Amino acid sequence: MAPVAGRWTRSARRVLPQMRTWRIAFHEDPELSDQETHTRDRVVSALRTLGLDPITYDDGFNGVLAVIAGDRPGPVVALRADMDALPVREETGLAFRSRNPGRMHACGHDVHMSALLGAATILAGHRSGLRGAVKLLFQPAEEEGEKGGAGPFLERGCFERPKVDYVVGQHVDPAVPLGSIGTRAGPAMAAADRFRIRIRGHGGHAAAPHLGPDAVLVASEIVVGLQALVSRVRNPVDPVVVSVGQIHGGTRHNILPDEVVLDGTVRTFRPATRERMEVALRRRVRSIAASLEAKVRIEYYRGYPALWNPTGATRVITEALRSEFGARRVIELEEPVMGAEDFARYLERVPGTFFQLGVGVAGRSAGLHSAQFAPPEAALVYGAAALLAATEALQGNAP
Ligand SMILES: [Zn+2]
Ligand SMILES: [Zn+2]
Repeated sequence: MAPVAGRWTRSARRVLPQMRTWRIAFHEDPELSDQETHTRDRVVSALRTLGLDPITYDDGFNGVLAVIAGDRPGPVVALRADMDALPVREETGLAFRSRNPGRMHACGHDVHMSALLGAATILAGHRSGLRGAVKLLFQPAEEEGEKGGAGPFLERGCFERPKVDYVVGQHVDPAVPLGSIGTRAGPAMAAADRFRIRIRGHGGHAAAPHLGPDAVLVASEIVVGLQALVSRVRNPVDPVVVSVGQIHGGTRHNILPDEVVLDGTVRTFRPATRERMEVALRRRVRSIAASLEAKVRIEYYRGYPALWNPTGATRVITEALRSEFGARRVIELEEPVMGAEDFARYLERVPGTFFQLGVGVAGRSAGLHSAQFAPPEAALVYGAAALLAATEALQGNAP
């Protein structure tokens, strides 16, 4: 069965040469969170070539905002692409691989930006058919993890003047086949909080452990004890992850350290569970430390909230994607993921959806954040077409 290619896919194919050029430029010059200055300048110049008047910020925030106003009144749809890269040494072998040592677009944000510019190219040429307006949000610092770029963008009024009614975003996903889109109503991505636990011990000779608390032993008990929160504090049908990603302490095999530091993450979906896990973690850590006569200091940081796709808007967009790509190529994802996304902050303000842009090719798709991650170029066409189909559906001007 030949795949359905809707009219937005056909339009997007015509702008593939430009999207390819943008993508190569972004991919060759990846920049870390809050350092996206070249990327910002490239986005600005691309938007200007489309006849748009992009807004930038002179306070170190690298976001770029542009508005495409239609000729008729209607809702304002914000389309968001993230801009930052990762501290990964690229091993894709691509001709346009990273020129910045130890930096890589390993999360596909180069694809997100290029697809959004492709969609903008088509929209800028179709203002007469556009109801309301489309707001283009190029957002920095998605990978930053705690503050992120979405919060600062909202604080700078990216949802005002004109006021945004809906927001749509996408992320490349190697688990979804190339040419398909994954959608999900309800909880889709987790809240991600971070903890750092400093355990004070009695440093000294490892042969005399009885002289004071052993921070290594206390740290070990805490790592194990935290898993009891997952198995006994949370409701078994409500997903929670607690992981310790770093343990730092000690200098030699026969010296007990003064201090051990644990650094980890807590992933949850429900706000009440998020609160409960923090309280329970603090209590559990203190009680384990007290039982071993050690002192602890706990720092707990709230990162991105959970991403919930509102049912109504997600249903409208899913239907539009089905008519664009064919029903078989739009997959309703059965399970949420425990990864986090600061797009969640936009969905706290207005309805919309965040969908997964398939980039998987059977047998040879590296994962996100991997040094081999290389989404195929055709994703640019599908990504631009998906944004356009979603926009049209939300603006209610389908033919
Ligand atoms: Zn990422
Ligand atoms: Zn990403």
